[in-house]
Amino acid sequence: MLQLGTSVQYVKGIGPRLAEILAAKDIHTVGNLLNYLPFRYEDRLNPRTIAELRPGEMATVIAEVRTSGLFHTRTRRMPIFQMTAGQGRDRIKCLWFNATYLKDKFKAGQAVALYGKVEADQIRGELQLMQPQFEILGDATEDGSSDAAEQKLAASLEVGRIVPIYESAGQGRLTSRWFRRIIRSALEDLTPDLPDPIPKSVRERMGLLSPGEALWKVHWPEPGESLQELQSSRTRAHFRLIFEELFFIELGLEQKKRQQKAQTGIAFQLTEQVRAAIKKVLPFHPTAAQKRVLKEIASDMEKPVPMRRLLQGDVGSGKTIVAFEAAIIAMEGGYQVALMAPTEILAQQHYFSARRVLENAGYRIVLLTGSLEAGRKRETRRHIGQGNANLIIGTHALIEEKVDFAKLGLVIVDEQHRFGVMQRLKLMKKSGEAALDRAAANLPPARADQSSAGQPEPDVLVMTATPIPRTLALTLYGDLDISVLDEMPPGRVPIVTRRISDDRADEAWSFVRKQVSAGHQVYVVYPVIEENEERELKAAIKMYKELSKRIFPDQRVGLLHGRLDPEEKDRVMQQFQRGDLSIMVSTTVIEVGVDVPNATVMVVEHAERFGLAQLHQLRGRIGRGAAKSYCILMTGGKVSEEGERRLDAMVRTNDGFQIAELDLELRGPGEFFGTRQAGIPSFRVANLIRDRQILEMAKREASGSLSGSKFEISQQEIDCALRHMRARWQHTYGLVEVG
Ligand code: ADP
Ligand code: MG
Repeated sequence: MLQLGTSVQYVKGIGPRLAEILAAKDIHTVGNLLNYLPFRYEDRLNPRTIAELRPGEMATVIAEVRTSGLFHTRTRRMPIFQMTAGQGRDRIKCLWFNATYLKDKFKAGQAVALYGKVEADQIRGELQLMQPQFEILGDATEDGSSDAAEQKLAASLEVGRIVPIYESAGQGRLTSRWFRRIIRSALEDLTPDLPDPIPKSVRERMGLLSPGEALWKVHWPEPGESLQELQSSRTRAHFRLIFEELFFIELGLEQKKRQQKAQTGIAFQLTEQVRAAIKKVLPFHPTAAQKRVLKEIASDMEKPVPMRRLLQGDVGSGKTIVAFEAAIIAMEGGYQVALMAPTEILAQQHYFSARRVLENAGYRIVLLTGSLEAGRKRETRRHIGQGNANLIIGTHALIEEKVDFAKLGLVIVDEQHRFGVMQRLKLMKKSGEAALDRAAANLPPARADQSSAGQPEPDVLVMTATPIPRTLALTLYGDLDISVLDEMPPGRVPIVTRRISDDRADEAWSFVRKQVSAGHQVYVVYPVIEENEERELKAAIKMYKELSKRIFPDQRVGLLHGRLDPEEKDRVMQQFQRGDLSIMVSTTVIEVGVDVPNATVMVVEHAERFGLAQLHQLRGRIGRGAAKSYCILMTGGKVSEEGERRLDAMVRTNDGFQIAELDLELRGPGEFFGTRQAGIPSFRVANLIRDRQILEMAKREASGSLSGSKFEISQQEIDCALRHMRARWQHTYGLVEVG
């Protein structure tokens, strides 16, 4: 009998070799395999007759192959593959483009199931299926098996019922049919007494199917099941599986939050003296939102438990000064503060503004980045270790290399979305570990008056400009408290955004000229998405030459990209900041955080290649001063449908929240933060956009379960659920430290 935790290679028909292919799909256990849900279902119980098909609909048709072959047309370079399928006297044409691989696929007389969009032929109005997905029925050759009984079983799984369709794997080696048979056999061999890890009262309240029943029904729906509910993952079986996945994620986050709250933190004092210190350095009147947010942060900091707070505020909403204020509270209490930025440019900028704002007040500020020359780095580290530095500003170097803080009290992570969950956890853990190391190394036991558990945990404040849709916030940041800066500093004029095609570039450049003559500065951004892509970088440099030599020979034009050495980068940035350069040609290295209020124009070349979040970030570089700002989105070449929606959204709204919601919808949660940095738990059965409501329910039930008394769940059930959750988390996300 198979258990959910059994390795998938022990399922009949898999073995070690195929298990490897499955591993690439993140399928390791029987449970993983059974959570590989069909991405759609075909109604082969009541398939459509060819006669009743209507143009525009998606349909499943079961028919017999009549003729097939490749042919060429005059207008297309690639051949088209055509197959005609029939039911009695009715016939339908199926077309596939560039499909030479289909050449010997079909034989006349074979039964095929076809699924695709029905269209009317442009010339004669005949119906045809464009690029349909297909399956040759009752043909056992694909897996080499010739066993008659097996063939019969295979056939019975393919027609006369609602059939699950799976995404294939291993470059098509493991087909939908293969999954159907394998999953079927895994279900048959699955132990009948599958434990239900969800506490009983939750199960009852939510009316959940048992796990075994849900798994059977989601793969092999019963005849009466609604095809529409199946397709939209809204059957009771789907609900059970989606709920379970989200329930345990929420349970994990909730538990993590509680664990964190149970740790010893630092109770910072918010005395009159501290307040006065903050007032003294503020360069302007804070907005009401900044005041409110600071209050939330300060009240966390006063508590003897570690702060874990996310500060969310659109680009330009003024997060930096709030971070400095929090830093003052910690520094006045005699603690050190680490401020981490995602790029060197941004770290440097923070360093300069921190010095401007804080140095007069007597705080010692150091910059620690990867590019620092070794001797300086060592010296800086020594200052940090000896407690001479109060505010340490840096990049990843802070987490990736060993830095010992003398007395770290607050960690601030800027532009958090750039880091991803894993890195954030690493940083938090690191600060904890460092604290423990120190406790072990430096402190004689007699002085360790804080308790044998070691030093208190530092507070952590993470900041992001990405307005996170609520669903994502509930999962990604479910372990954090959230503050929102929802007000812009006074005097901002909304940015005007226009899109034009690059054959009208001249108009854009003459507009740029006008703005420059009026004393303003301009960014021209070129899409070098991969900074080490030689070809793209060349294009950006060429653009720079074109602009500086031909179009604006009379202006000072600078170039900034990720491959410049750090000093050069720094120099260019400072020149622009001082106003020595009027035009800055740049790659997306300026995307995050750069703050030059005199810049009023942002020209984005090939805007269609950028993601929405990126465009919004880029646009956030302007509109930071009192003058009206303009964002010009230039497109070059053909724009995809999705590209159109992105550009459209940018022109329509400046509201980061609306943009984020649309972005999430367009890209899906996995890519929301950019694949590389993501670190987002990926879901097996749930989909954050589709399953918002289930997520809310799961969250409510999870926090209720942990509160215990309210839902009258036995300690035993909670323990069982927690064990299950930990096993799952550790496996899938590696996030929970088992205590
Ligand atoms: P972000 O939230 O994108 O990090 P910044 O902290 O860089 O934004 O602030 C954007 C600009 O607004 C900066 O030039 C900053 O000095 C200015 N600013 C912030 N708060 C205020 C305020 N209350 N009044 C006026 N200007 C402010
Ligand atoms: Mg910022």
